[in-house]
Amino acid sequence: MPSVRRAVLRVAGQPLEVESFEPLPCRGDQVRMQVLATGVCRTDAHIVSGADPIALPRVLGHEVAGRVDGLGNVVVYGAFGCRSCLDCAAGNEQLCPWVRFLGRTVDGGFPDQVVVPSAQYCVALGDLDPLLAAADGVSRSSPQRAVAATWRDGGGDWGRRRQGPCGAAASRAD
Ligand SMILES: [Zn+2]
Ligand SMILES: [Zn+2]
Repeated sequence: MPSVRRAVLRVAGQPLEVESFEPLPCRGDQVRMQVLATGVCRTDAHIVSGADPIALPRVLGHEVAGRVDGLGNVVVYGAFGCRSCLDCAAGNEQLCPWVRFLGRTVDGGFPDQVVVPSAQYCVALGDLDPLLAAADGVSRSSPQRAVAATWRDGGGDWGRRRQGPCGAAASRAD
């Protein structure tokens, strides 16, 4: 498998370091996403500056759209719960006591590829532009709302306002 790139935050206050890495094979339910676009929001800026400390090193990026074989273009719901507790069963994985957050407690969307724990976290975009989907993720309080908004508006919320409440941007991976 060819090596791919990722941008890693090693030390708060320092620039991200772009490095090559060998992706691990997917296990169990995992699916591999080829990243097409990732949102960059104020949360990322606060993590990079150290204002919002997290365990480092970490690959940031929590509003991620890309391509998954067999699924097409998708956005990722980046709160990965245990999938067995009451909160997870109710569809509130972000409240799960064991939740892992993409780009915060597990490596996020600033590499070429992301391994997602299950296809259930991938929401099909159909014809929608992955860049708009990632950007809409910036302007929503949860990826689920971003997905709903992107479906409803065709990314139009971003298209109208050109910036989310966190004053952010999205960047294509290419
Ligand atoms: Zn964000
Ligand atoms: Zn859970």
